[in-house]
Amino acid sequence: MTAAAETIAAIATAPGAGGIGVLRVSGTQATAIATTLLGRVPQPRHAHYCAFRDAASALIDRGIMLHFPQPNSFTGEDVVELQTHGSAVVLDLLLRRVCELGARPARAGEFSERAFLNGKLDLAQAEAIADLIASQSEAAARAALRSLDGAFSLRVKRLLANLVDLRVYIEAAIDFPEEEIDFLAAPELRARLDAVSDELSTLLSETRRGLRLADGLHVVIVGRPNAGKSSLLNALAAQDRAIVTPVAGTTRDVLRENIQLDGVLLTLVDTAGLRESADIVEREGMRRARGELERADVALLVSDAEHLNADIALLGPAQSGQTRLLVCNKIDLAQLPPQRVGHAAGIRIDLSARTGEGLDLLRRELKSLAGVDGDGSNGAFSARTRHVLALERVAAHLAAAEFALVGQQAGELAAEELRHAQRDLGELTGEYTSDDLLGAIFSSFCIGK
Ligand code: GDP
Repeated sequence: MTAAAETIAAIATAPGAGGIGVLRVSGTQATAIATTLLGRVPQPRHAHYCAFRDAASALIDRGIMLHFPQPNSFTGEDVVELQTHGSAVVLDLLLRRVCELGARPARAGEFSERAFLNGKLDLAQAEAIADLIASQSEAAARAALRSLDGAFSLRVKRLLANLVDLRVYIEAAIDFPEEEIDFLAAPELRARLDAVSDELSTLLSETRRGLRLADGLHVVIVGRPNAGKSSLLNALAAQDRAIVTPVAGTTRDVLRENIQLDGVLLTLVDTAGLRESADIVEREGMRRARGELERADVALLVSDAEHLNADIALLGPAQSGQTRLLVCNKIDLAQLPPQRVGHAAGIRIDLSARTGEGLDLLRRELKSLAGVDGDGSNGAFSARTRHVLALERVAAHLAAAEFALVGQQAGELAAEELRHAQRDLGELTGEYTSDDLLGAIFSSFCIGK
């Protein structure tokens, strides 16, 4: 047990929301507090019907008490859960009573932090709890659950083990300097290094995908006036009949809509028309459109067969890391079939926003870009920016290690880079952490979690 001995308590449900209210208590005093409230020692993992009373024996509420002795609890400490009616007043009174009996109000994320410190969860799993709670789409919730189950951590640990093997191999070579050169030049070492690099780049791209799943795919629709941008947005949104939230900050020039595409969150931004214009108001709209474009995961150009090449030229070069989708709209006018074809400037999809023909091709493309393929039953896990950044650092260290080995035959340098890579990987699961990092992570949780 590494966590503080202090006993913490917090309301773990949204008070006032009706239904039941839950107060959670964790720490060395939890069992004693439960015993006082119940009038006897509670039986582990049994539902006790209990009259919760204040210090003067006045009834606060009647409800259920559950006792989970350590180490078989969420935090790994003695945990007691008190269920009441879902009243903010009742929960407040009960929290006050529990604090009189030796607990103190918990900080945000303190239960999860203790679970982490007691080895119940690793850091990535603890983050997945917060991501599950914050998830805004089915796909994001499922991905967060997979991370909570350890899918992401398992991949990180596997990579870490292979990285450590590699480091040991190189360090062994350094210890026998007379053989070092041969050792470091051996094809086997090269093969191992390549294998670790491949594993890392697969993990990195899946982690980026996990990040997109959690945040939703940010799609900006651009095109000339009358190309059919609004019609396309409406067609996509209407087909789902599930506009989740109109996002605040909608301006005259930029219309933003969140839609769920088979459980995947998409933020669609309809921008002002793309064209050279002398009109100041319109130029401002264009400037905002370009700003939106810079931040987007996907730039969706709406055009038609006649204007496509000119519009691509007007749009300019793509941002790095951004996907271009080219929509040739209004195929109904030319009586062309819907299709998806490759194009030098991105995937081209021919469709009609008016008749809906070809819309399914676009939906499929967007879903796959959002990280969900086919029926959505893939094994994606959720991820955070922190994870992507750490893996990018690992990739940079690996590349430096490879250069040191292959380019300079410098085993020491390579080993040093691998040590850094190992540390960065260890930060993901929390093997290496600093108080600052833990503080930053857990303070963004809600109270009671
Ligand atoms: P925006 O200015 O790019 O937002 O374009 P709108 O969505 O307002 O569409 C401009 C015009 O084109 C409207 O009259 C639409 O009804 C029409 N339109 C949009 N999509 C199609 C399409 O697929 N086929 C046909 N025939 N007309 C379309």
